[in-house]
Amino acid sequence: MNAKITLIPGDGIGPEIVREASAVLQKVADVFGHSFTYEEVLMGGCAIDACGVPLPEETLKTARKSDAVLLGAVGGNVGNSRWYDVAPNLRPEAGLLGIRKGLGLYANLRPAFLYPELSQACPLRKEKADAGFDMVIFRELTGGLYFGARRTVVREDGLREATDTLVYTEEEIRRIAVKAFDAARLRRKKVTSVDKANVLDSSRLWRAVVNEVAKDYPDVTVEHMLVDNCAMQLVLNPAQFDVLLTENMFGDILSDEASMITGSIGMLPSASLGEGRMGLYEPSHGSAPDIAGKDVANPLATILSAAMLLRYSLGLEAEAQAVENAVAQVLKEGYRTGDIMSEGKERVGCRSMGQLVRERIEK
Ligand code: NAD
Repeated sequence: MNAKITLIPGDGIGPEIVREASAVLQKVADVFGHSFTYEEVLMGGCAIDACGVPLPEETLKTARKSDAVLLGAVGGNVGNSRWYDVAPNLRPEAGLLGIRKGLGLYANLRPAFLYPELSQACPLRKEKADAGFDMVIFRELTGGLYFGARRTVVREDGLREATDTLVYTEEEIRRIAVKAFDAARLRRKKVTSVDKANVLDSSRLWRAVVNEVAKDYPDVTVEHMLVDNCAMQLVLNPAQFDVLLTENMFGDILSDEASMITGSIGMLPSASLGEGRMGLYEPSHGSAPDIAGKDVANPLATILSAAMLLRYSLGLEAEAQAVENAVAQVLKEGYRTGDIMSEGKERVGCRSMGQLVRERIEK
């Protein structure tokens, strides 16, 4: 297949990790007989230096014309006055919000997967870590409490009163539910929809629409779980989850909880999806300015984001699995970057880690 991929290296370790992950994509193209073309554009601090804004129009235009976007990370040392002594909409991270909005990305996917080789980093009890877990959270990204009308007023009695509004439309719920059920079909065929339907009207609508969508997926099991119970179940029995589907704020909190029980945030990829197959793929971590340019960054979260790109934007499931298997193999053989290093393992740098993964990609 032919595909156009936009690369946004960004700042800090971004260029190093995107270089390794895009070379992995090229290795996949060579091994499986695809033709990928890449266009590299600026975003974040480097775009501010070159063009005066964190998200140049050209970057958005290039991204819109491509099948998928692979992003490193943006931002510098927050104490760096060159980028941070300005209005929030001119700071490097404003590029992230701008590109998500500009590409209409409404579904945020965060997998939480425990590699058996890294299970000692899991903060849960050993028997739970040994049981392992492999879930992906689908968080609605553009609706709910974070986007509703808000105000703070001083009442007649002099006390302050603040209001936030939680609004969801049927269409907003349906489109992300469809994405979650589609993904479940490629996995263990179970969707757990999280809400607070015992209290909130928006949650009752959420549950009703999810049940309607479920009718089109008779091969997928659906269950509903209240958010407070879900927060407990994530630490009690994470192995029960396959696809977790939830609204914006619940997803914000639960996806951080799920990533922490893996113990290795430097390993976690993410994807943001919109209409059709277009998506933006990036590691869950930031630009790590403290280790930039030293060839010590862990490129695996970005490489695993590239695997998600193959799966969700290009529909290349076997190729995505080939990348994930190569990463698992490298870990099994005992290679580690500094952030996931443990006794008796072999320490490697960013470049070598990328190379080791590429050498293990096979059809
Ligand atoms: P960070 O994730 O960049 O770094 C936190 C710690 O983890 C640091 O010690 C860093 O060295 C380490 N680390 C992160 N990624 C690593 C990797 N791949 N390999 C090895 N070690 C790694 O978070 P921070 O320090 O809070 O933020 C730094 C900058 O990144 C800030 O400007 C912040 O705004 C930005 N940021 C960007 C994104 C994004 O682009 N999506 C996300 C979060 C933070």
